[in-house]
Amino acid sequence: MRVALISVHGDPNLQAGGKDAGGMNIYIREVVEKLSVYDVEVDVFTRDHDRKNEIEAHQSKLNVKYIKAGDNSLDKIGIYNHIDEFVEGVDNYKIQNNLKYDLIFAHYWLSGSASLKLKKIWGVPVITTFHTMQEIKQEAFPYNIDDPQRQAQEKLISQESDGVVVWSEHEKNFIQSKYNVISKNIHIIPPGVDLELFQPTDKDLARREINIDKDLKVILFVGRLERLKGLDTLLEALSMIDQEEINLLVVGGLYNISEVSRLKKMCNEYNLSEKVHFIGSISRSDLKYYYNSSDICVLPSYYESFGLSALEAAACGVPVVASKKGGLSSIVVDKKTGYLLQWRCPGPFVEKLEILLKSKDLRNSMGINARKHAEKLNWDDSINNLKQLFNKLTSN
Ligand code: UDP
Repeated sequence: MRVALISVHGDPNLQAGGKDAGGMNIYIREVVEKLSVYDVEVDVFTRDHDRKNEIEAHQSKLNVKYIKAGDNSLDKIGIYNHIDEFVEGVDNYKIQNNLKYDLIFAHYWLSGSASLKLKKIWGVPVITTFHTMQEIKQEAFPYNIDDPQRQAQEKLISQESDGVVVWSEHEKNFIQSKYNVISKNIHIIPPGVDLELFQPTDKDLARREINIDKDLKVILFVGRLERLKGLDTLLEALSMIDQEEINLLVVGGLYNISEVSRLKKMCNEYNLSEKVHFIGSISRSDLKYYYNSSDICVLPSYYESFGLSALEAAACGVPVVASKKGGLSSIVVDKKTGYLLQWRCPGPFVEKLEILLKSKDLRNSMGINARKHAEKLNWDDSINNLKQLFNKLTSN
């Protein structure tokens, strides 16, 4: 089987944690590598973009086909105007290389739009994964600025795709009820986690690798530094916790200058500058040291369609405190592997962090449960389910 994977703006070769590089990029890379074991050949198509200042994440790069569509330095908002050019480029590649695709697998709405156009030319089924949807995000986080076409396109793509892959019950219900898509066309197939790379190891050894004092209490945040991630709530909570030896490590690229300076200003105001460390973007191979050095991982997001970093922390045996939003509800089991918080205000975070900081036994037992739970969310199941869906749609 040969699949055209369309990822218009997400280049899977980039290091996650930077601008436009997060869970989606990790997901695409893992899926492409793992599907090859099942004899599924996947060609990844991404819009050509300015790559000179980006960090390439992996030594073994995926063979991504970069398609010229608009200026290389274009921002995400603005790409939609160049979708036809992108589609033409992908189709030309197919013609020039005499290829035949059985299926199109689209990621994010821009790719969904491109894929519906390719479907008309090629006559093959389209599966779309949105990763995030504007209306859901907007509800949780009204400050978001987006392409005016996005919402209508997401509705159309939901209805015209042959299958929509979602990562949570919440997203399925939303698409079904808001966009009138029949239930059997929406498939809940969440990603897995690399259980080999992310596994519990000795905390002192991990701390030695990244130069962290063994006596500190370490709280960890991993993600893109966007307001949606709710780091301000965590900073406010930290300012209310009276423990000298706490440090917060913020892992994620410092590309968003205005957000970083806003957060640093907050640290100053709350007298936290000594305790909060902005580490920048970290490679996959070094991330395990950060998870394994930490006592608690916190994800206070307004919304997460999934929350891979919470799952990676859990796989390393670290309790997670997260907002009860989207996919996080399936990653964190409340009171067992960490805490899920309904309210995104600092009070509940203070309460749960204090409970965990005071009890090493509780952290350990929740950490053990977290690893066990992460083992159930593995890549084998995820890829098997995807492959079954591919088979079903291509045999019609
Ligand atoms: N990540 C990374 N290096 C960093 C920061 C993040 O590799 O410096 C990875 C992180 O491990 C996770 C992904 O980026 O796999 C973020 O995915 P998540 O679902 O948490 O958030 P998203 O970016 O999709 O909003």
